[in-house]
Amino acid sequence: MNAPLRRPLIAGNWKMYKTIAETQAFFDQISPLIFEVDHCDLVIAAPFTSLRRAVETGEKLGFGISAQDLYWEKEGAYTGEISAAMLREAGCRYTLIGHSERRQFFGERDQTVNRKLQAALAAGLMPIVCVGESLAEREAAQTEAVLQRQLAAGLAGLTEAAFSPIIIAYEPVWAIGTGRTATPEIAQQAHAFIRNQLAGLVSPLAAERCRILYGGSVKPDNISGLMAQPDIDGALVGGASLDAGSFAAIVRYQETR
Ligand code: PEP
Repeated sequence: MNAPLRRPLIAGNWKMYKTIAETQAFFDQISPLIFEVDHCDLVIAAPFTSLRRAVETGEKLGFGISAQDLYWEKEGAYTGEISAAMLREAGCRYTLIGHSERRQFFGERDQTVNRKLQAALAAGLMPIVCVGESLAEREAAQTEAVLQRQLAAGLAGLTEAAFSPIIIAYEPVWAIGTGRTATPEIAQQAHAFIRNQLAGLVSPLAAERCRILYGGSVKPDNISGLMAQPDIDGALVGGASLDAGSFAAIVRYQETR
């Protein structure tokens, strides 16, 4: 059998949760629950202070470790910021970029997403670029226009080769942390639109190969319906990734189909 074109990826975003001790406990607890999982890639985006412990304990279990943000300069007088090279040195393989909480609360813009993306790629990090519309934008029938703008500006200036490590996460803001998941059909519609945009912005082949994750109140009881959609290649999971049992149940989605 041919390998699937896009290997599924399940990523957890811990946001500002989990100390070093809690990070250790999470991996201790999830270890027996994900034994022999090999149908998907696993990623945990930990807070900066827990990254090193996550690398030391999580990588052995097959997790790639991700940062939640970075700054685009290599070094300098940027108090409070972390560079891509620092994340690589800590052992990160991925980084989130443009999460809606960064956009809402910390002034992230499409142009800063683009600068961070270029810096992450230059350092060899695999970026997980988050896009998605707010409730007001959806209700005003602006979803496609917002996604189009976020993708065009966020991915500006990338060659097809540079684009290949990039993962996109579609995260409708109205579904994040609200318990209100997009239906599989609504999510599929947005994912198909994003893939179509990528075909025009990068190339049809790059679009076919790009993994597009869904994020927004993913739980053990809704993951399999989402994963059954042809353009949904995985999930970015916030709240439900904090508990080893619920994250493992999400990772094992194919057993509940
Ligand atoms: C997220 O943080 O990216 C997210 C999707 O959160 P939640 O799963 O809690 O909605």
